[in-house]
Amino acid sequence: MFDTLQDRLSATFKSLRGKGRLTEADIDATCREIRIALLEADVNLAVVKEFVAAVKQRALGSELSGALNPTQQVVKIVDEELVAILGGQTRTIRWAKKPPTVIMLAGLQGAGKTTLAGKLGRWLREQGHSPLLVAADLQRPNAVTQLQVVGEQAGVHVYAPEPGNTSAADGEGERPTGDPVLVARRAMYHAQQKLYDVVVVDTAGRLGVDAELMQQAAAIKAEVRPDETLFVVDAMIGQDAVNTARAFAEGVGFDGVVLTKLDGDARGGAALSIAKVTGRPIMFASNGEKLSDFDVFHPDRMASRILGMGDMLTLIEQAEKTFDAEQSAKAAAKLTSKGGTQFGLADFLQQMQAVRRMGPLSKIFGMLPGMGEMKDQIANIDEKEIDRIEAIIQSMTPAERDDPRILNGSRRARIARGAGVQVSDVNNLVTRFMEARKMMSQLAGGKMPGMPGVPGL
Ligand code: GDP
Repeated sequence: MFDTLQDRLSATFKSLRGKGRLTEADIDATCREIRIALLEADVNLAVVKEFVAAVKQRALGSELSGALNPTQQVVKIVDEELVAILGGQTRTIRWAKKPPTVIMLAGLQGAGKTTLAGKLGRWLREQGHSPLLVAADLQRPNAVTQLQVVGEQAGVHVYAPEPGNTSAADGEGERPTGDPVLVARRAMYHAQQKLYDVVVVDTAGRLGVDAELMQQAAAIKAEVRPDETLFVVDAMIGQDAVNTARAFAEGVGFDGVVLTKLDGDARGGAALSIAKVTGRPIMFASNGEKLSDFDVFHPDRMASRILGMGDMLTLIEQAEKTFDAEQSAKAAAKLTSKGGTQFGLADFLQQMQAVRRMGPLSKIFGMLPGMGEMKDQIANIDEKEIDRIEAIIQSMTPAERDDPRILNGSRRARIARGAGVQVSDVNNLVTRFMEARKMMSQLAGGKMPGMPGVPGL
């Protein structure tokens, strides 16, 4: 998502490089390029016009006299304006003064609401909450079962109107079927009784906007009186996203937007217009089918990402989540003492696996600054090669991992058989490991090359 936009903007900024000062003609040309880039990315026309006008005005104004060079100044202005159209400050959930906090999800069918309910459930649980997911989508066959499945994956309870769900069978009388408003009412009662502190209500969607859908969503809203109504929208549906958002804003009303399917390869610009068009912030982003593919939406980080400045903050946060600091410190200490000879293949494997836990390598690299220009190489990162390396190390005995120098011919042959690779692959790995270890141990302060503080990169 946003690849073309990224490419075009970075080409635009590149053409400014080396200029001592920007003439009005330079600024005009740049603004034209930005306009084309945004329109090509499918950003809403009205939003583009306003955006470009703001950039131009600021670029022509007095701001162009500070410590930054002209290109940096233009990038800064574009960055700030992008943050503004994406909703400005990061906005997270407003908690109810008296629990439970109620979050209602609304949107078209297929937008990703049910999946999102699971993701939100997992995220809330990780933050120490005890969420209850409510299946008030009684329209789509399977929606209830699907919510039960994602709820189970997320490790959170689901209140469902259908039999087969024990969490709803608690003697509150007949379990309602067919009427989502009744389900929602029951669920609220259940949540209060069982002291859940957040209730996430999944509602029905349809393939297109219609009056009945709006009425039903509005009726559920009136029943549960949500603290947050989130409009869930598939970022891949183009300008329809903007129209649908407008319709929901009028018909149901919402407090925030959740963009889903940001992992898709569509141009995505329409989604970027939603916050501006509806005046409601984008609060969360969903970028994959797994429950963990979900994050709080940070307008500033998204803007830097679009401008090819990488997304270091997200990367660092993910690193913090997946890295065991003590383990990394130990590995670094081994590497910096005694010429690195203490740092064995087991340590290497551990570090490599820690990096991989952060996600597919292509995704990780995509978040690094300046990587926009290296897209082809990134796409060529061979995860299988890394699987092979893991298999080879795993086929070694602990003693061999500690000191690869003991790897004679017969040991290497055994390892190759165990890992299902050629002996030459084992040889390659050992040689490369020894060289890399030597190089890394020579680096001052024990910082490994590449990313400071993130071992293994
Ligand atoms: P609902 O009808 O709004 O409840 O939508 P679902 O949650 O059933 O999602 C519709 C489809 O989109 C499912 O196949 C999901 O797996 C898929 N989906 C949901 N979120 C994402 C996402 O962020 N990325 C991708 N690639 N697929 C998603």
